[in-house]
Order: sequence, then structure tokens, then C-alpha cells
Amino acid sequence: MAWILVAGSILFVWIISLCKVILMSHMTNRNSFKRNGKALQKRNVLLVIAHPDDESMFFTPTINFLTSRGHNVRMFCLSIGDADNKGNVRKQELYQACATLKVPMQQVKVVDHPDLQDGFGKVWNHNILANLVKEEIRRHTIDMIITFDNYGVSGHCNHRDVHYGVRTSVNSFSYGISRKLLHDNPYGDIEAWELVSTNILRKYSGPIDIWFSMFVAMMHSNGTIQFLVNEHSHRSFLAMAQHSSQWVWFRKFFVAMSSYTYMNTLRKI
Ligand SMILES: [Zn+2]
Repeated sequence: MAWILVAGSILFVWIISLCKVILMSHMTNRNSFKRNGKALQKRNVLLVIAHPDDESMFFTPTINFLTSRGHNVRMFCLSIGDADNKGNVRKQELYQACATLKVPMQQVKVVDHPDLQDGFGKVWNHNILANLVKEEIRRHTIDMIITFDNYGVSGHCNHRDVHYGVRTSVNSFSYGISRKLLHDNPYGDIEAWELVSTNILRKYSGPIDIWFSMFVAMMHSNGTIQFLVNEHSHRSFLAMAQHSSQWVWFRKFFVAMSSYTYMNTLRKI
């Protein structure tokens, strides 16, 4: 009997939280990414990910926020995800998923570098990563970069290496490259943001995490934290479903239960 009560309570909170997500998606975030009190001008944004499907599993709220406001979003995927020899299929799936997320194919670039192959235990050279990102910044006049934080949501080593490749970090070697990368940009300031990783409880709390995320954002009113609600949560499912080779039961479970389907918290690097 007790477990029915617990399950019922969780379901109730889930529904209330989902209503809050839907409500906020219609009325907030208009002022996110303010600069000097003004709304953000159109930006050239580079979203740097490690594998095809990272964008759909983790970054959908951010992508929806940016594309719906006319920002120019470019996807930069640093591997074809060839761990199971499905790299070429997964590359095509990424194009389809990005189309679902309103990022056109010509703005999606997938790298297939011999030293950057998908897999646990495969260490990616931060110097190679930084040079590839730098080239993209120059080529497309990028003024905003978004990537994983140093845990990479799932803790996957490739996600973490991507983070270290593009930002200042505790690793002094990576720090030097990142500073140089930002300093070298001839187009002015580049804002860099990282997707905040949460603990396992929050990660699998779906829309319920909105209360925690709002609290965290409230504690950082100086603009170093941006809290974005997914304005089209269903697109997370539609986009992830384009990754047919990966669309197995546990990933369906992840997308349904993950708070990253419903919201993203970004921290300024
Ligand atoms: Zn990944």
C-alpha cells in the first residue's frame, strides 16, 4: 500500500512539474543571455559535441532556444561514433536529427579523425581538438561556443576530452591552448558556455528537476548561469528517434526520464 502512495506522489509531482515546464516555455527565457541589460543580438553559435546523438540526448533545450530566436547554430561533432562500426550510418542520422532540430545539413560538420575515435578508454588529444575548434571559429566567425562541462553529463571520457579541448581547465596545458584560442579570435569576444552536469538523482528526475534548476539559477543572478526550458520537449524524442541505430529501450528510457530533455543549465566558462 505504501509503495502505491509513493508512486502516486511521484506521479503527481511529475505532472505538476511538467505543467511548470510547459508554462515556463511559453512565458520565460525571452530575456536569457542578456548582455548589458540588452537582449542577445543574433549570434554565430558553435555547439561542440563528441558523438552523433549527444545533441538530441543532452542539448535539445539549448538548440531549441537558440534556433527559435534566429541565432545561427552550427553543429560540430568530433567523431562519427564508430565504436560499433556504425559510424557512416550514425553520421547520416546526425544530419536527420539536426534537421528535426532546425539546424540545416550544411551547418553540421562531423569530424572523422584517426586520433578522435569513439570509445571508452580512447583518450582524445586536447591539442588536436583545440586546433579543430579554432579552425571552425575562424571559418564561420563564431562568437559563442557551447559544449560539455568537465564531467560531460554521462561521464563519458570523449565528452570530457571535448570539454578540455575547448575551454580553460585545471589542466594547465589545455588552459594555455584555450586562452590562445579565445585571444586569437579576430572577431571580438567569444562567449563560451558549458552544459552543467547534475547528480544521478537530478539527471533522472525528468521535469521535476525544474525546481532545483530554478533555484540554482536564482542563486546566480549575475548572468553566469543560464537556465533554459525546452520549448519543444517532443523534439527531443523526434530528434533522438532519427538515430535509429541507437534508438534502443534504454535510450528511450533515458530521453523520457532525463531532465536534459526538459531543461538545460549552462554555466559561463
Ligand atoms: Zn556522447
